[in-house]
Amino acid sequence: RASRTFHPADTVIDVGGVQIGGKKLAVIAGPCSVETPEQIEGVAQAIKAAGATMLRGGAFKPRTSPYSFQGLQDKGLDMLCQAGKKAHLPVVTEIMSADKIDLFLKDDVDIIQIGARNMQNFELLKAVGKTRKPVLLKRGLSATIEEWLMSAEYIMAGGNRNVILCERGIRTFETYTRNTLDLSAVLAVKHKSHLPIVVDPSHATGKRWMVEALSKAAIAAGADGVMIEVHNNPDKALCDGAQSITPDMFARLMDSLRQLAPIV
Ligand code: PEP
Ligand code: MN
Repeated sequence: RASRTFHPADTVIDVGGVQIGGKKLAVIAGPCSVETPEQIEGVAQAIKAAGATMLRGGAFKPRTSPYSFQGLQDKGLDMLCQAGKKAHLPVVTEIMSADKIDLFLKDDVDIIQIGARNMQNFELLKAVGKTRKPVLLKRGLSATIEEWLMSAEYIMAGGNRNVILCERGIRTFETYTRNTLDLSAVLAVKHKSHLPIVVDPSHATGKRWMVEALSKAAIAAGADGVMIEVHNNPDKALCDGAQSITPDMFARLMDSLRQLAPIV
């Protein structure tokens, strides 16, 4: 179902009234984690003013250490959805466990994110496959393109065709960047599949100063959009501050992306 062989035309996914995978670029932005109502609302208003398509923010965080901030959980989800409604932005947020699906549907999350660490959590993939909500499927830390597309297949096999892929960098021997951004994956995915694909240069690099250039590179490679971490005070962020850009940097990034293609 994910293969272009049986479905030659590009898939365009409608997300709360905006289209992902069409001629225009989708720019998803927001903090790694929802921290306070003021923080998420402030970032939402700032990215909306800069022309973003969608708001991101984590409430359930898959942290490497159990002692790191785990997200505000259900309360964070409410704060995100409130901020999205106030700023008139659809929202995307990560699900970690199938028992939260009802809550995600009730709170009207517009895209359910499956994080890199859960790309092969097949029970979770089957569970979101039973819904008709758009799913943002991140590439696993060391997943091949074939494995990643098979995970999309799990979701689609349940009848949910609304899958958006997200390249977020893979593990290699290189440690200078947090991961290695695999831009050739954008071309490979476009060749093998009709599904839309966005690139996340924030998690790919872990470095805020690389985000703008690699966003442009992703668009040049044919990505349908980008997902970028934006924080009102990156140095105080509870998660992923080093890769988060400020709202001012985001506004400049939007200006440079607009030179390449119109934004949704
Ligand atoms: C995220 O988007 O906040 C995230 C945890 O990303 P990944 O699953 O790609 O590490
Ligand atoms: Mn993050």
